Amino acid sequence: MSTIFGKIISGAVTADKVFENERIIAFHDIHPVAPVHILVVSKKEIPDLASVKAEDLPLITEMFQVAQQLAKEFNIADGYRLVTNSGAKGGQTIFHLHFHLLGGRQLGTIDG
Ligand code: AMP
Repeated sequence: MSTIFGKIISGAVTADKVFENERIIAFHDIHPVAPVHILVVSKKEIPDLASVKAEDLPLITEMFQVAQQLAKEFNIADGYRLVTNSGAKGGQTIFHLHFHLLGGRQLGTIDG
């Protein structure tokens, strides 16, 4: 696996894990931009949202369910953001599909 997230999935690099099953791993972002900043990452090596195929949609659904559950566990269910950057022009830096779960402070509008 080629990216840092691939290395976290294989166990070669450690992360502050908060969830894991056969298809998904979630861990705290190393450079949090909010009090809660968790990355929900597919174990399947999909580079970005633009590369998601119809056959991957059950996985995407499950990633949303995991994010929803983590929002409850981290006490941000009353207000949070789930976002993905797709492609370099979309602000993506690690080309392995992931969603940012952000919360724990008042979030502004998306303007970046
Ligand atoms: P993106 O720019 O949307 O691809 O998001 C990549 C995210 O991964 C950034 O928010 C980084 O802070 C985060 N990140 C990079 N390396 C690590 C790591 N080793 N452990 C946890 N988060 C990381």
